[in-house]
Amino acid sequence: MDLSQVIRNVADFPSKGILFRDVTPLLARPEALREACERMVAPFRDARIDRVLAIESRGFLFGAPMALMLGAGFVPLRKPGKLPCATLREAYTLEYGEAALEVHADAVAPGQRVLLVDDVLATGGTLAAAGSLAGRLGAEVAGAAVLIELEGLRGRARLPGLRVESVLRY
Ligand code: AMP
Repeated sequence: MDLSQVIRNVADFPSKGILFRDVTPLLARPEALREACERMVAPFRDARIDRVLAIESRGFLFGAPMALMLGAGFVPLRKPGKLPCATLREAYTLEYGEAALEVHADAVAPGQRVLLVDDVLATGGTLAAAGSLAGRLGAEVAGAAVLIELEGLRGRARLPGLRVESVLRY
């Protein structure tokens, strides 16, 4: 299946100059969602992943089924103020604004192997923050899986030492 056919490109959203990659048509087709998740987990099948760390909010949509496929636990990396217990926080810059991520301080045991998951890799700030949180938790970061990589924004350059696997590249 050509997954690029179920990604909708929306110009000037959420702000002028941004070409937004809308995954809702993909999510609406069960065979497309399944194939997207299967292709995102494939490079990490043998990576002994203990926890999938997925980024709010679209990362959750792929990360939870991927955790089931890998037999791993699911850990949400959330926007500030959403998690009820003690958290670690990491601030970063987004393609279109400022943001921060939080994780429960007890979500990962030191030495556990984690996979970072998001829908889109743009400038890399979000995944860098996620990797930093994972590192602060003492996790071993096996890599990052994204559905879409916007190669022109050179996000990989901001993620030295991180294994990044993408399904679709633009
Ligand atoms: P970045 O930190 O620049 O790599 O941005 C990645 C995050 O922003 C991901 O969580 C994406 O969901 C979102 N994002 C950034 N750019 C886009 C885009 N062009 N289309 C859809 N989502 C985007």
